[in-house]
Amino acid sequence: MNSPDPTVLATIRSKGHILLATHFNPDGDALGSLLGAADILQSMGKRVFCYLEEPISPLYRFLPGAGQIQTDMNRVREFVDYAQDDFLTLCLDCGDVQRLGRHYEELSSFRPLMVIDHHRGNKGFGDGFWVEAHRSSTAEMVYDLAKALGIEVSSRASECLFAAISTDTGSFRYESTSSHTFRVVSDLVSRGVKPEHVANNLYDNYTLGRLQLMQEVLATLEMYERDRIAIIRVTQHMLDRTFTTMEDTEYFINLPRAVSSVRVAVFLKEVEPLHVSVSLRAKGKCDVASVARRFGGGGHRNASGFRMQGQGVEAVRDLLLPVLREELQA
Ligand code: 5GP
Ligand code: MN
Repeated sequence: MNSPDPTVLATIRSKGHILLATHFNPDGDALGSLLGAADILQSMGKRVFCYLEEPISPLYRFLPGAGQIQTDMNRVREFVDYAQDDFLTLCLDCGDVQRLGRHYEELSSFRPLMVIDHHRGNKGFGDGFWVEAHRSSTAEMVYDLAKALGIEVSSRASECLFAAISTDTGSFRYESTSSHTFRVVSDLVSRGVKPEHVANNLYDNYTLGRLQLMQEVLATLEMYERDRIAIIRVTQHMLDRTFTTMEDTEYFINLPRAVSSVRVAVFLKEVEPLHVSVSLRAKGKCDVASVARRFGGGGHRNASGFRMQGQGVEAVRDLLLPVLREELQA
């Protein structure tokens, strides 16, 4: 129980150079797991390269170690060449190989490649994988990895892992939050994490523009199926008007989801004209991972997503509604 896959563990132990990667558009769990793992592996004397496709979002720059993240693939190639056989790629919080981003083919060619993840539907890619879909977060698994490696988790790594678990559990509210989750965060707090400091950075640090964007987004609310489906949307025009970016929409979907009658909340995000990213959040038995998979996406039972190109926001909504109605009847 809670112990890493033996192949993943043994490979991590044996390699001196580790390339850490996660999914594009990284959320708190992706970034906290990455930076927490980096600190843990560095404390074992390993050389670690933290790769992201884009610079880390300002929201997460408070995470200790955020400055070591690099976005240049040439530097990744140099690191891989230099390490020769003493090398490993470790993918964290990434449910399928294509979510590594636009360089996924090259990144996944840097072998051996090991995966630690908690996404439902992750069939396991790479040469070894430790995937547990019931886990609250990848960060909880990174903590268990440190224990299995016999490493004392530093206060810096603790803060990264705590922030990751806090965001991926919706502040310890989602179904995946277990007694083990609380044991882990209890230990992280005893290692120096100040929950108030993390919460201030994550949840009470927004711009006025974000509040104005929230007003605009909530004004788009549409309700269907006797108020069991709630749909909101954001367009590029709204972002322009409020001087915000798509990152400012994080957590908005939880507002319609919080209405008691709502079983599924949908957030339609116009990434660019005719390119829509869809976030789905469900309560109870409703499985939105299977809904997202019908559209080529994925995720967890209660939190999933997909992307669609060639259609506008309204067309995507009209394609999605019948599938959601079917899922509500299941
Ligand atoms: P979010 O709505 O926060 O973007 O994503 C919620 C969950 O759905 C995340 O766990 C994420 O991994 C998954 N997800 C979101 N978009 C996609 C997608 O386009 N493809 C896949 N496979 N999973 C997605
Ligand atoms: Mn996660």
